[in-house]
Amino acid sequence: MEYAALVDVYDELVETQSNLEKTAILAETFDNADKDSLGVVARFCQGRIFPSWDTRDLGMSSSLVKRAIKKDTGASEQTIDDTWRETGDLGDAAETLASSSSQGLGQFDPEYSHSLTVQDVMDQFEAIEQAEGDGSIDQKVTKLANLLAKSSPREAKYLVRLAIGAMRLGVGEGTVRDALAQTFLPEMDEDEAVALVEHAYDVTNDFGLVAETVATEGIEGLQDLEIELFRPIKVMLAQKIESMDEGFEELADDDGEVAIETKYDGMRTQIHKDGDDIRIFTRRLEEVTEQFPDIVAAVEESIDAETCIIEGEAVAYDPDDRSMVPFQELSKRIKRKYDIEEVKEQIPVVTYLFDIIMLDGTTMIDEPLRDRLAALESILEPREWQLERAAFLQTDDTEEADHFYQQALANDHEGVMLKNLDAGYKPGSRVGYMVKLKPIMETLDLVVTRAKWSEGRKSDWLGRLFVACRDPATDSFKEVGRMSTGYTDEQLAELTERLEPLITEEDGREVTLKPEVILEVAYEEIQESPKYDSGFALRFPRFIQVRDDLALDDVDSLTKVQNLFETQ
Ligand code: AMP
Repeated sequence: MEYAALVDVYDELVETQSNLEKTAILAETFDNADKDSLGVVARFCQGRIFPSWDTRDLGMSSSLVKRAIKKDTGASEQTIDDTWRETGDLGDAAETLASSSSQGLGQFDPEYSHSLTVQDVMDQFEAIEQAEGDGSIDQKVTKLANLLAKSSPREAKYLVRLAIGAMRLGVGEGTVRDALAQTFLPEMDEDEAVALVEHAYDVTNDFGLVAETVATEGIEGLQDLEIELFRPIKVMLAQKIESMDEGFEELADDDGEVAIETKYDGMRTQIHKDGDDIRIFTRRLEEVTEQFPDIVAAVEESIDAETCIIEGEAVAYDPDDRSMVPFQELSKRIKRKYDIEEVKEQIPVVTYLFDIIMLDGTTMIDEPLRDRLAALESILEPREWQLERAAFLQTDDTEEADHFYQQALANDHEGVMLKNLDAGYKPGSRVGYMVKLKPIMETLDLVVTRAKWSEGRKSDWLGRLFVACRDPATDSFKEVGRMSTGYTDEQLAELTERLEPLITEEDGREVTLKPEVILEVAYEEIQESPKYDSGFALRFPRFIQVRDDLALDDVDSLTKVQNLFETQ
């Protein structure tokens, strides 16, 4: 397929907000695509270059892409920055600059571009990904610049967006799924077709592979797709509930029972085992096997199965008093690439297992939780402080469940998970499978000290707000986080109007503000963090309301943040 034809599709997708229309556009595209490029087309339409389980990544930041645009168009860094700022999108900036470029390279040669196919683009992206060693950065930049030189300005726009992972086509997984079902399974009942494609995607985590399979092997091919070792699947996520009763209402089985487990605050680990080959993936499907030889060793010792995929939460603990340590400590191990044996001793981890996805080659995601847990327990010989079963209670009694919850909190855990014993394992977040219950955090009143202009549709708005608490000791404000959710478009526009006159300094897309606007902010938890000058960071801060009724002296103090951190 010509890349130019795909760019036409992108334009159509961007233009419509309607999911039905997007599905129809995709269905037609999949229908027209030749079988060889179908897989790539399906991923590109999702705004992806590689499947989501695949840890490969181009390694191109916006600043490297800017260098490629500079090389291609001859525009100065300043011009690129200005255009980026004006258009609010680096892809748009690339298009604008390519159209007005006077440099030979940037002049798009229609003869040449006719040969640019979707597969050419993919080949070049693979070459960019593979560049390594000394000079790899320059190689990446040059390769992208060459690709841009071969493309029309419109093509350049989408190439840039794809390269930095910011396609914003508004194409969700459901849209690709429905389009594949429509195109390739028209003879089947619509719901059944959709369910079949969805299942195939759940087990492979790659619409490219699903598309290729259904196009060449039809229904049977799809049915034969299985979970494969070392191709991690998306983890099952949980929605939040406000009360124990709500959890029982949503998840209880015919006997009124639910499974309730401690919610540990650590790293979600998906462990794949094939004999001695044991690998560990995170919730974001990144491989961390090398960083955690202790988990590998624990699995070797405690898991009695030739092949399996199991899931749990790895939690760091203090080797002296065996108290749980916060996630930030553990994250040091996730990032660490050297002296692994040493940190392993300093920050030991215990993994609490809570699910099994595959056993001895058989996919288990369609089995009810109660059977999966029985299977998990049958292969686990727990070892304390290494590999254990997550604390578990099966009950129909909300009081008993509440007691379990209070106990988990008393032991410094985050809360509890409630699970439906009859439910399968469903990658992603769905209603009816599992929920989390955590104490509600007190909100904070914080002042806005800095902000960043948003990108894309919202580029006229200051959408990312740095919020700070008051430090009476130094009579200054200390930042505790950056917030970009919780407000409606209208509220954001209003906030921008109030903040813009307070700008004291501009640096690229970031602005410093006179502290004046006070906001009430909710958050999931407070973490210690060197990222902000307060030494703390709010996790998932979200806007509640503007507190015009408060003065700067009423902004919550650093001591309060510290106290909340200690008692949470
Ligand atoms: P959250 O990150 O707040 O959305 O909560 C979901 C996360 O809780 C999962 O991704 C797991 O990493 C973690 N978790 C901790 N304990 C459990 C458990 N017993 N069952 C399932 N997930 C758990």
